[in-house]
Amino acid sequence: MEQLETFEDDFARVARWIEAYLKHPERYRVLPAARPGEIAARLPDAPPEQGEPFEAIMRDFEDVIVPGITHWNHPRFFAYFATSSVPAAIAAEALAATLDVKVMLWRTSPAAAELESVVMRWLGRLLGVPESWTGIIYDTASIAGFTALAAARESLGLAIREEGMTGRALPVLRVYATEHTHSHIEKAAIALGIGHRNVVKVPCDAQYRMDPAALARAIDEDVAAGMRPLAIVATVGTTSTTAVDPVARIAEVARERGVWLHVDAAYAGVAAMLPEQRGLMDGVDAADSLVVNPHKWLFIPMDCSVLFLRDEATVRRAFSLVPEYLTTTDGDVRNYMDYGLQLGRRFRALKLWFVLRHLGVEQMRDRLREHIALAQRFARWVGAEDGWEICAPHPLSVVCFRLRPHGIDDESELERINAALLERVNATGEMFVSHTKIDGRYVLRLAIGNARTTEADVAAAWQILRREARG
Ligand code: PLP
Repeated sequence: MEQLETFEDDFARVARWIEAYLKHPERYRVLPAARPGEIAARLPDAPPEQGEPFEAIMRDFEDVIVPGITHWNHPRFFAYFATSSVPAAIAAEALAATLDVKVMLWRTSPAAAELESVVMRWLGRLLGVPESWTGIIYDTASIAGFTALAAARESLGLAIREEGMTGRALPVLRVYATEHTHSHIEKAAIALGIGHRNVVKVPCDAQYRMDPAALARAIDEDVAAGMRPLAIVATVGTTSTTAVDPVARIAEVARERGVWLHVDAAYAGVAAMLPEQRGLMDGVDAADSLVVNPHKWLFIPMDCSVLFLRDEATVRRAFSLVPEYLTTTDGDVRNYMDYGLQLGRRFRALKLWFVLRHLGVEQMRDRLREHIALAQRFARWVGAEDGWEICAPHPLSVVCFRLRPHGIDDESELERINAALLERVNATGEMFVSHTKIDGRYVLRLAIGNARTTEADVAAAWQILRREARG
C-alpha cells in the first residue's frame, strides 16, 4: 500500500510543475474555453481496478484538468475578489496534508492547536484587534458568520440550544444588515431557523454605507412590535463596492440596545495592517465578533477565514457538546471542536504561519498598498475616458465602472451593452472581470488582489476593455 518507492521523483515532478505554473500563470487563458460537460466527458466512468503510474495521472492532470481550470492565480484575474496562492503556503499545505492532523482536541495535535492561537494573536495584533479577543480559524467567512450568529442566538437566553425553535412560543428574531451585506448572512438566517425574511435591509447613505439612525429606528420599531433583535451585521468592505459601514456609530446603536454586533471584514480587514488604513477598524473594539479572510487578500490559498471573538465562551456555549469518546484529562486547554459544527479541522494555521514568516509583514503591506494604488490608477483612467463612467466610490482595490455611450440613458439598454461587453472581454481569455448591480444599475467590477498583478496587467486590462468596447 505504501507508495514511497517513486515518491521523491513524483513529488519533484509536482514541484517542477508548480514552479513553472507560478512563474507563468499568464500562459493560460484566465477563463477556460470549456463548454458544460466537456471535461467530464473526457474522464472515465469509474476508477481503475489496478493503480496507475503517477506519470499517467499527471499527464491527464495537465491535458484534461488544467485546460479546464479558471486560473485564479492569473495576474489578470480581476473577478469577484482576486486572490492568490504563494509558494510558502503551497509547501505548508503539502506538509499539513502529510501530517493529516485533525485539530479538534488539544491532544489530537498540541502543536497545531497552540500554533493556531499564536498565529491568531500575530494576525490580531497586525490588524489592531483588541488583545483580549480570541481568533479561531474556519474554512470560510460564510461558516464563520454562521457561527457568530449562532453564538448571538445562544446569547439571547431563549434556551434554543436545549428546546429548539419549534412547538413553543418564541418572539420573531431579527438580524439587521443592508442590501449590500454578503448573502451568506441570509443563508445563516435560513440555517439558524430565523428565516431570511427576518434579515432587515437597513437603508444606506449615498455611498452604500449603513445608516446608523435608520438602523436605530428599525430596531426600535421591531422591539415595539414584540420582535427580538438578534444581531447587527456591519460590513467593512462590501462585496459589490467595498463600502465601509460606520462601525463605531453602529456599535453605539448596538450597545445602547444590547444587540450583538458582527463585523464582516472578510475582504477588507487585512488592509488594516497598513497604518494609513487602520481606520478600517474604527469601532470594531466595541463589536462582538469580526471576520477576516486571509484566503481573500492575504495570499493564502483556500481555505482560511478567521473569526475574532470578544468572548470566546459565547461560541463555546452555542456549540460545545462532548461525547464520552472525546472527553480528555488535558485540563485548561482550548479544544477547537468546541467552537463550531465541525469536529475534525484542517491544520490551517500552518500555511498562515509559513506565509507570515516567509513574506514578512513589510512585503505584505507593500503588496496591499500597491493593489490599492493600482485600483486608484485604473479608476483615474476610466474616469478620464469619454463614454465611460465610475459607478461607486472605490476606497480600496475594487472599482465599479461601466461603458456609458453618449446619448444612451436607458438602464436596460446600458445593461445589455455592458453585459455583452463583459462576455466579449472574458471570452478573450486574456482577463476576467465580473459584474454587480448597484441601485439597479448593471456595472462591471474590477478587483485587484492577486500577488502577481502588476501595473502592466491593469493597463492591459484597460486596453482590452477599450478595444472590446469599440468592437
Ligand atoms: N463576506 C464578504 C464581504 C464577502 O465579499 C464574501 C465573499 O466574497 C464573503 C463574506 C464570503 O466569503 P467565503 O467565501 O469565505 O464564505
